[in-house]
Amino acid sequence: MSIKENLEKVNQKIADAALKAGKKPEDITLVMATKTVDAERIREAVRNGGHVIAENKIQEALKKYEVLKDEDASWHFIGHLQTNKVKDVLKFADMIHSVDRMSLVEKLDKRLASEGRSMDVLIQVNTSYEESKYGVSPEDAISLVRETSRYDTLKIRGLMTIGLFTDDEVKVRKCFKLLKGIYDSVIKEGIDGVEMKYLSMGMSGDYHIAIEEGANMVRVGTAIFGVRNTPDAYYWPSEKVDK
Ligand SMILES: *Cc1c(COP(=O)(O)O)cnc(C)c1O
Repeated sequence: MSIKENLEKVNQKIADAALKAGKKPEDITLVMATKTVDAERIREAVRNGGHVIAENKIQEALKKYEVLKDEDASWHFIGHLQTNKVKDVLKFADMIHSVDRMSLVEKLDKRLASEGRSMDVLIQVNTSYEESKYGVSPEDAISLVRETSRYDTLKIRGLMTIGLFTDDEVKVRKCFKLLKGIYDSVIKEGIDGVEMKYLSMGMSGDYHIAIEEGANMVRVGTAIFGVRNTPDAYYWPSEKVDK
């Protein structure tokens, strides 16, 4: 199937899940996870209605950005962000989904301040409790939101998680419910400068479930571009990939 047909299928499934969750289809933002996908195929996707490009690796993103920066798309960074890559991520990203520790917050703040700008960010939470996964622990998530909110350069716009890789739907839902609970707690607390606008959860295998559990931003790669040749372990270096 073509990228165009795949996008139509994904958008239909998003719409169905949204209606089931009592939301409007347009309330859900489709983020295209474009790791390993070459620039021309990404261009094809953008021209067929995918308007958010999300990359995991800085060097790969910069190369594609060079080619695609004039396309009608915004750019998200969804991979693990090393502090020594902060300067480079700011060259292309409109949003960073993977803020998960204070050392990174401090580095981002310093660089953003020196450039006189701000950045929309999501706090990544490790809802699957896999030790090898990135993200702040669910228990520490709200205090990381509070601490990060003190930095004017970082605009917290929501939360992100990668659910457990398993066929057990109950376990997957548990991760998503956990993140939604934290999201609601942050809203209830009403932290200055923090806007819980995006709940980024759900990938090709489980985005319909994530939407049912409250996601309004889903990150989909394989269902749009097909199966990747490069193992995900390359993109999630210290993570167990047990799919
Ligand atoms: C690759 C990736 C996705 C999308 O994964 P698919 O299963 O291909 O849809 C979503 N989120 C992150 C962080 C990713 O690295």
